[in-house]
Amino acid sequence: MLVTDLNHFLDLPADTAGAVRRLAEHLSNVVRSATAGDAGTTWESALPCRRRPANRRCRGRIIVLQTDPGVPIRWQCSVCDDEGMISNWEDSPFDLRRRRLTLAGAVNEIVIPDEVAAALRELQLLDTDCQRLVFAIRAHTHGAILAATDDDLDELIGFVAAEANHEPNRRRQQRLDAAF
Ligand SMILES: [Zn+2]
Repeated sequence: MLVTDLNHFLDLPADTAGAVRRLAEHLSNVVRSATAGDAGTTWESALPCRRRPANRRCRGRIIVLQTDPGVPIRWQCSVCDDEGMISNWEDSPFDLRRRRLTLAGAVNEIVIPDEVAAALRELQLLDTDCQRLVFAIRAHTHGAILAATDDDLDELIGFVAAEANHEPNRRRQQRLDAAF
């Protein structure tokens, strides 16, 4: 069981080792998913497992077990035995819990490929509402499920288009174009 305090992974110095950076990214993604999804139930997110047994990526997704304020977030891989707890996530920059009640329209459930879900997670300029959409994406047998209202989708597509237009990296631009 990997027991972590999110505070130790915020504002990492520039000379932080790559392995620590990757762990920090994993933990921040888990916190974003845990706080974006349904806190009342255990659910399987679209986040990939970070492990690479025998140099091959584990095919598992991250299951969020518990998200209650005041106690650590608990997570585990759906395939291997990777699991952990993250404390001090409340009110961190990755805490996407809703601060106010909003009226939602009808929600569409859209099955998207894993690569598109990954491209959406990489978007840099998303506002909190769109981050919540992206990190609430659930695992599905054929990729991932994005649940969004028509308005949400319009907004998300706007962010994808804006970022694809300004992306200097050709490969990332292609991923964003595909997501669009
Ligand atoms: Zn795994």
